[in-house]
Formats: sequence, C-alpha cells, structure tokens
Amino acid sequence: STPGGSKVSEEKIVVTVRLRPLNKREQLAKDQVAWECIDDHSIVHKPPSLERATQPASFTFDRVFGPSSLTETVYEEGVKNVALSALMGINATIFAYGQTSSGKTYTMRGITEKAVNDIYNHIMNTPERDFRIKISGLEIYNENVRDLLNSESGRNLKLLDDPEKGTVVEKLVEETANGNQHLRHLISICEAQRQVGETALNDTSSRSHQIIRLTIESTLRENSDCVRSYVASLNLVDLAGSERASQTNADGARLREGCHINLSLMTLTTVIRKLSVGKRSGHIPYRDSKLTRILQHSLGGNARTAIICTLSPAFSHIEQSRNTLYFATRAK
Ligand code: ADP
Ligand code: MG
Repeated sequence: STPGGSKVSEEKIVVTVRLRPLNKREQLAKDQVAWECIDDHSIVHKPPSLERATQPASFTFDRVFGPSSLTETVYEEGVKNVALSALMGINATIFAYGQTSSGKTYTMRGITEKAVNDIYNHIMNTPERDFRIKISGLEIYNENVRDLLNSESGRNLKLLDDPEKGTVVEKLVEETANGNQHLRHLISICEAQRQVGETALNDTSSRSHQIIRLTIESTLRENSDCVRSYVASLNLVDLAGSERASQTNADGARLREGCHINLSLMTLTTVIRKLSVGKRSGHIPYRDSKLTRILQHSLGGNARTAIICTLSPAFSHIEQSRNTLYFATRAK
C-alpha cells in the first residue's frame, strides 16, 4: 500500500477482507464468533488472543466488510475501480481467496453480476465508442485446464506461448456476447459446467480454480483526441480452498502436514507476495503453475488486482482464518 493510501482506487493490489455470518450448521453446533470488524479497515480477534499472546489480534486492510455487508457494497467500495479499469485498456483481476465454505463462490458470483451490469451501464453511457465483449471460462483442476464453455473439449487443454498475446489456452472457446442478457447466459453456462465436474469428481470446487475472463475491446467512432482503441481483460477468479495451499505457521516456518498442496494456489500466493514487495522482489515465478501462467498479463506490471479474502467467523475455523489473514497481510 502507498503511504496514506486509504484511497482504494490508487492501489495496484487492493486487499479486502469479507467476514461472512455464522451459518446454520455453525449456529446449531453452538460455534461462536471469533472475529469482529471494528471499522472499515480493521478486523480483530475476540477475545483478543488470550490463548496465544504471541499472535496478532488485529489486522488492517484497504477495506474490511462485516457479516451484514452486502455483496453490492463489497463491489462498490472494494473492487469496482479495478473491474472498470478493464474498460480503459488496463488488464484487471479480481479473486476470492479463503478456505472452503468461507464464501468465495457466493462473493464472486455476486461480484461478477455487479461487474457485468456496471460494464453495460458504462457502455450505454459511452455512445462515442463501439464496444465488443468476449467471454471465456476455464477450470484448473490438478493442473489440468478444462473449458467451461465447451464440455466436449476434454480436461487437459494445452497452454501455448503466443509472441503477441502471451500465454493462450489452446482451443479455448471464446464467445462474443451480444448484450447483457447473453453475457449472463454464457456465465451461467460456465457456472453450471463447473458444478457438473463437482458431482463427478467429488468436491472439485474446493480443489479447482475457476476463471471467467471478459475481454473488452472498444474503438472510438469519430476522430478525436481520445485514445482510439482499447483492449483489456477482466479476470474473475474463484480460487480453490486455501486449505490447499502449503500452510505456514505464524512465523512462516512449519509446513502443515496431511494437506494436499495445490501447485497453482501455492504459486499464486508466492507471485502475489513478490508483487506486493515491488521492484526488490526479483524473479517472479509466473511460469511455475497453470493459473499464474494464464493470469500473468493480468497480474503485476500495469495490471490491477483486487483480492477479496473471505473468512468464516467461527472459532472452529480460527486457524484457517488466521492463515487467510496472514496471506492478506503479505499481499498488501
Ligand atoms: P466457498 O466457495 O468459499 O467454499 P461458498 O461461497 O460456497 O463458500 O459459501 C458457503 C456457504 O455460505 C454457502 O451456503 C453460501 O451461500 C453461504 N455464504 C457465504 N458467504 C455468505 C455471506 N456473506 N452472507 C450469507 N451467506 C453466505
Ligand atoms: Mg466455492
């Protein structure tokens, strides 16, 4: 974060946290709320870390959203500026990070809907430009890439290096949307397709990453001083459960045992951490996983990134919630 940078709009990586309400199951089990959002920027552990005085009790981010916040607010106040930058030719990525059941899919579906509406509002209010929106959807499961718009294409699409476009997914279907309704329909196909995989492969959503990519092109209708044409992608990413990352302890040392490590998730966390450090970070290992190769041109450089870290409020999930907050802290 920049010094005094409370203005979310100017950050390269915007880091937000969303705490969901206790769910029915947690309520029935008499689970208690372990976290409280004390203002728009801070989340605290309550009671303040009595059992472990060595661990921080309070965490600060660009924006923190409490259990009663609406997805609309998360969109408007957390990620909207990042989403809309794709209309101005700046690649953007919004992703949800958190343990399984913390609210990633719930949040990203809502954010996607709000972003699509906002994009079409902008198009209506910008009659001087012609817009074209293309969509593709893919899932990465076990380092295999699957097309969510074409169920016939198999589960292991190849990545190719294109000298102009960077990494492209071979044979990935890209559809041109002819309006808001059509785009929503195509997005719903991707979501349904992901669920098909879920039942077949037993809980894939906790292990797989989903990327919905909107590519927005626009050209000016008449000659003027404005930039003639823009093209950029908005990537909406629902990540695998963060319990699949190689979890480290508060001191960053111990590896958690018995947890299947997800290469793409682990590499993404390394890439984000290095990007947040800035120029001093040296080599950034984009090429170490499918997810980071696919997102390379939409992370770092001139691209803009918003991270929504989702948290369960329950005491029973406190270790995972802490790990998520440590990730979020390192991403700032
Ligand atoms: P994840 O994708 O991280 O595994 P989900 O998005 O599927 O988690 O959320 C788990 C459950 O919690 C779902 O039933 C979802 O509707 C509910 N949920 C998640 N976030 C919220 C929220 N902010 N408010 C209300 N319910 C939520
Ligand atoms: Mg999910």
